[in-house]
Amino acid sequence: MPQCSGRRLAGRTATAGGGCATQQSRGVPAPESRCYTLHSRGRLCYTVIMIELLTFSTDDLRPSRDQVLQNQGIPAGVAVPAEIDALCSNAIDLMLEIAAPAGVLLEISKPDFATVYQGQGQNEASTPVGDIFPRAENLALFAATLGQGVSREIKNLFESNDLALAAMFDSAASAAADRLGELAEIRFAEFLDQNGRNTPETCVLRYSPGYCGWHISGQKKLFEFLHPEQIGLTLRDSSLMEPLKSVSGVIIVGPKEIHSFPMSYPFCSQCETRGCRERIRMLSAD
Ligand code: SF4
Repeated sequence: MPQCSGRRLAGRTATAGGGCATQQSRGVPAPESRCYTLHSRGRLCYTVIMIELLTFSTDDLRPSRDQVLQNQGIPAGVAVPAEIDALCSNAIDLMLEIAAPAGVLLEISKPDFATVYQGQGQNEASTPVGDIFPRAENLALFAATLGQGVSREIKNLFESNDLALAAMFDSAASAAADRLGELAEIRFAEFLDQNGRNTPETCVLRYSPGYCGWHISGQKKLFEFLHPEQIGLTLRDSSLMEPLKSVSGVIIVGPKEIHSFPMSYPFCSQCETRGCRERIRMLSAD
């Protein structure tokens, strides 16, 4: 499933639930940013490139009850026993106490992203990202993590046989990690807005290696460009991230239409989630 949610520029951003809020009211993470200018191959062509370390507040990260319960297989809005609601609430609070979130965001040119996307050469022949990024207006790589403490706590809870809390804590952490990806989208959207590089029709969506034909081994090249080890994030030999509750990928910015595609890729027939449909639906509704 693509790791993305719909987001429009021009002063509006989509919330996790699909509604809209101003960027200010979303509590966009305070950036430590620097911009610099690159001179491209002798032509008088200058591009402002952004690299930024992201910090996040607890309020930014707090997942909703529905998001956490959905990770347990419970559809949004379904009533559950009071003990389950209490367990969910406790797990969210505990997870937020332990989390030490950090992120990094790097704007990238199309030629450089073509190299990142090529990765180890194991992608499917045709994929949504491969078809979309050549039509993008702007691109950025991102990675963010909840920190090692969250992974340690999940392990401790399972090992101490507190299985109900362990599973709920794990679900809360997964929901918060998704939120990190949304916040990276918001930050890049804000940067483009501040630099007059958006249009009212511009949409911002994120995609990750390991989904929809972009092979998980693509993480290696992405990490080579982004260097998320500066926020304590590394890659295992399997290309899974360490700590596990982390997100990474590319943020693709462009007209809404480029993010809308049919489920006609060969691998779509085996897809159980069809998560791209919800994303495209959110873009259309915005
Ligand atoms: S249907 Fe295809 S494009 Fe959509 S989420 Fe599934 S694999 Fe990805």
